[in-house]
Amino acid sequence: MRIVLVGPPASGKGTQANVLTERLGVPKISTGDMLRAALAAKTELGLKAAEAMNSGKLVPDDVVIGLVEERIAQADAQKGFILDGFPRTVPQAESLAATLDKSGTPLDAVVQIDVPRDLLIDRATLRRTDKRTGQIYHLKYNPPPPDADLEHRADDQEETVRARLDQYDAMTAALLPYYEAKGLLVRVDGSGAPKGVTEEILRLLSERKS
Ligand code: AMP
Repeated sequence: MRIVLVGPPASGKGTQANVLTERLGVPKISTGDMLRAALAAKTELGLKAAEAMNSGKLVPDDVVIGLVEERIAQADAQKGFILDGFPRTVPQAESLAATLDKSGTPLDAVVQIDVPRDLLIDRATLRRTDKRTGQIYHLKYNPPPPDADLEHRADDQEETVRARLDQYDAMTAALLPYYEAKGLLVRVDGSGAPKGVTEEILRLLSERKS
């Protein structure tokens, strides 16, 4: 299964990707995670991406396209993958389609996760990640265990979240008609609890397969 998750920041893409990777047995490929790892390791790529990331802007297309091309060429991604946070622009989507066409392995579905804006801000500002496990928590709705080693993403401060939401509306929302026209888009309501959202995604994916 080759799946893309599309949705605004804090819509639950990362949480769903973490669960779907287990349920479907394919790797999760998250450009946000890859960029944060590059930044933590202070690589040239990480330092190049840092300014855009910290101000809630998008990293240039060629940078993320290169990262994803390398990653999907790896052995574990040959049986499929869940893309989380890529593509985020139509040029990224076109480049991905060209790469997958070349290998005769097109996308199976693009899952759009819908969540109202005020809920997104509440989710992002109270979101915490366990540094050791990558598990994502919410201080109010999904509190972490006492021994979690928590991190608050630098770009989850309210002002930056608003900038990221604006970037989503300006750039990423254009992906929805793009994938709709290709007959790949399925929509889920992402405002409920994560478990229910996962089941709805799996139901929609199996409906498409049959
Ligand atoms: P995420 O973890 O998906 O919310 O991504 C965090 C940040 O990384 C974004 O706000 C962007 O600055 C950058 N980023 C991640 N994926 C992409 C992408 N596909 N295109 C451009 N920038 C990206």
